[in-house]
Amino acid sequence: MKNQSNKESVRGTGNSAALCKFSSVKKGYYADPFIQYFVKKKEPVEPIMNRGFYMRVHAMDRLISQFLNANTDSSEGVQIIQLGGGKDTTFWRMRLSGENEVVNKLVWYEIDFPRTIQEKLRIISRVPKLQEPIVGWPKKALKKTSKGIELHSPDYHLICGDLRDTENLHKSLQEHGVNFEIPTLFISECVLVYVEPNLADKLLSYITETFKLPFLVMYEPTNPLDNFGKQMMTNLSKMGCPLLAIEQYNSIESQIKRFKKIGFNYVDVKNMKLLWDTLGKWEPENVDGQKERNRVIRLEWFDELEEWNMIMSHYFVLWAAKNDQISQEKFIKI
Ligand code: SAM
Repeated sequence: MKNQSNKESVRGTGNSAALCKFSSVKKGYYADPFIQYFVKKKEPVEPIMNRGFYMRVHAMDRLISQFLNANTDSSEGVQIIQLGGGKDTTFWRMRLSGENEVVNKLVWYEIDFPRTIQEKLRIISRVPKLQEPIVGWPKKALKKTSKGIELHSPDYHLICGDLRDTENLHKSLQEHGVNFEIPTLFISECVLVYVEPNLADKLLSYITETFKLPFLVMYEPTNPLDNFGKQMMTNLSKMGCPLLAIEQYNSIESQIKRFKKIGFNYVDVKNMKLLWDTLGKWEPENVDGQKERNRVIRLEWFDELEEWNMIMSHYFVLWAAKNDQISQEKFIKI
């Protein structure tokens, strides 16, 4: 993100993610009635990507639910801070599911570059269904700032920011009511890997130093050193969005070391290949895991098994918390 054109390419990855999520939903992998509004050109997406995005969303959802379940008794509620939220719709999906009571005591913050926030707000302003859960929409919720329009309703905030600028980020969060004492989940879904590693680490240190009960869920690519990994790195660099952090943190082991050093006392990581191989074993108790696995396998004709296994083994999901005693039970158990 050293120059604007590079920043624009990185910003564009938010649109690609929304397209793949939309396609995965359309093929029946999972339900999301909101993602359709965030996709302009509804181009076809390959089965391997549909299934990959199902796995990504499924793992993230599972960990977000576990965070909520673990904190249902937090009398002052909980917060989720989504770093680089792009066009993601998890805020609306959670409101709709009403799965967990604590959702009613949840304040959700999203931070992304100003242009992305403006685009997201323009879409919301055209779709009444997206406005429904936003208290005070539009007059009381929209605020003009020097960076652009932001959304500040009691439980949903869309903030224009740059994750590399920790000082300003802190000011914004403070100004908009973030409680530094209560359980707070940070979500980074394919985001920090695009940030220079020293600046990403600065942000992570800020989180452990400033928040009393921080949790973090991160989904990212890894293993850039084998042939497949090298190809993945080359393709993304050509598109103008190099995976900057992966050069320094190029394995799951190095990610664990990184988070421990930064002050997350509990860190666990699962390779997505393992989560795929054990799909059906880490779902909530009320879900018939085997049935879910069979359902997903039958959704699309799929003959790229080798490539599928390769892709899965190049992604991981990480779960970290500062307070290790309250965290160990909460991660995906296989
Ligand atoms: N998390 C979303 C999802 O999974 O659908 C979007 C993922 S997209 C691959 C990466 C997002 O991170 C983009 O929306 C991009 O604008 C945002 N991003 C990357 N670097 C950022 C930075 N320094 N400050 C703010 N946002 C950033």
